[in-house]
Amino acid sequence: MAATSAPRIGVLAIQGAFREHVRSLCLCGAETVEIRTREDLEGLSGLVFPGGESTVMGKFLIEWGMMDRVRELIRSGMPVFGTCAGLILLCSDILDHPGQPRIGLLNASVRRNAFGRQIDSFTTPLELCPFPTASGNPTDQPPLEAVFIRAPLIEKIGPGVEVLARVNGFPVAVRQGNVLATSFHPELTDDLRLHQWVVDMAGKN
Ligand code: GLN
Repeated sequence: MAATSAPRIGVLAIQGAFREHVRSLCLCGAETVEIRTREDLEGLSGLVFPGGESTVMGKFLIEWGMMDRVRELIRSGMPVFGTCAGLILLCSDILDHPGQPRIGLLNASVRRNAFGRQIDSFTTPLELCPFPTASGNPTDQPPLEAVFIRAPLIEKIGPGVEVLARVNGFPVAVRQGNVLATSFHPELTDDLRLHQWVVDMAGKN
């Protein structure tokens, strides 16, 4: 039987919590690549956009000539996961910063820092329904401990976007086909289930 190799997943490493994602992905059996150049984007089967500052990441994706290739890869069906600033980067509309550079392929309107400042950060147990699984057969899953830090608020979603979890009625975990995004930070906890979904999807890609 041919040996199966670990899926190669890129983590945008311009700034922010990329090391934490690398750790979680490695624990899920992925090979990881820290993405800093356009060349780093080749040969991947998955991509992660971490939390941090969406303005900085968007600016450098353009300045370093990576934005078009990133969009191409996502359009081609590559599994991607964006957390917090990563979610903002993926959204089609940034309501309070309409001119901010973004990838824009997640059909949703977001407002930055809408849950408040750093000191308003909070953790809450969250039921994801359905919990994304690579097999497409979610079973009953225990709640996830979700960490919110200067989190964005998804105010509106468009066609094709599935809401997996809400806080105060607002979506905080969404999925549009191959794009998974959360306004919280699973990479800051030991709960690996969302990273495992990305790794399993990337393994099939
Ligand atoms: N407030 C940040 C932004 O707008 C996101 C914060 C985070 O990623 N924890 O980019």
